Amino acid sequence: MSLKGRNAVITGSTSGIGLGIARALAAEGCNIMLNGLPAADCETIRADLAKTSGVTVLFDPANMAVTAEVRHLVRRAESELGSVDVLVNNAGIQHVSPIEDFPEEKLDLLMRINFFSAFHAIAAALPGMKARKFGRIIDITSAHSLVASPFKSAYVASKHAVMGLTKTVALEVATDGITVNNIAPGYVWTPLVERQIPDTMAARGLTKDQVINDVLLKAQPTKRFVSIEEVAACAVYLASDAAGSITGTTISIDGGWTAA
Ligand code: NAD
Repeated sequence: MSLKGRNAVITGSTSGIGLGIARALAAEGCNIMLNGLPAADCETIRADLAKTSGVTVLFDPANMAVTAEVRHLVRRAESELGSVDVLVNNAGIQHVSPIEDFPEEKLDLLMRINFFSAFHAIAAALPGMKARKFGRIIDITSAHSLVASPFKSAYVASKHAVMGLTKTVALEVATDGITVNNIAPGYVWTPLVERQIPDTMAARGLTKDQVINDVLLKAQPTKRFVSIEEVAACAVYLASDAAGSITGTTISIDGGWTAA
């Protein structure tokens, strides 16, 4: 499934699922624009991926909560890599709280990163994709784009919003050689999941083991976390020529969660 010569932007790709997708795309020959909040290890991550894959790997610290920075990320990738053929809208944050106590600034930040950044990145990438008659847009949503869980009102709403965005844009560009799809993972063991355990313990009055087994994995009939590599393999397929007729849809990778 060679992606040799293609160029990809993956938002929020210095950790977890985004980094896994970047590694998998790079392994197929795709050049990569990494993105994430500035951190001490960003240059190490960039240099390691460039060395192991042999492709061009850039890093941009654009803050996905800031519209101008989202749009600049896409423009920079177009100018320095030559095009954006694959856009993976992956950056996302979680906040767990009963709705009455949900901090307004967290709601605002979460919607900006989880939803608005996908909207603006897509809007910025489409003119180039249309001109080249090729594009692959992959939105990393969640099982929470299909079903809800208590205390995650903003997150669930943001992921449902992205699903609506995916479907709408897929229709708008259906004859332009561009596909737009969601990957909706269940629980994947990443820093994002690890970080929400203390809040869930507090919100529900549970121990760490109870949160893992009785809240998180309870939803997943397979009773195991989805792996980053399983999600990344799906992204590689959606980015390939072989997936040209898959558009406007959601691929669930949730161990059967949403079948129930
Ligand atoms: P993670 O916390 O491991 O990684 C998040 C990445 O986003 C990091 O690279 C971080 O630097 C970046 N990021 C955060 N805020 C940013 C900002 N303002 N600007 C730029 N980058 C920013 O998270 P993850 O678990 O890999 O989640 C990635 C995506 O997958 C999210 O959209 C999340 O909602 C979704 N998802 C995760 C799970 C799961 O169980 N982990 C399940 C379903 C969906």
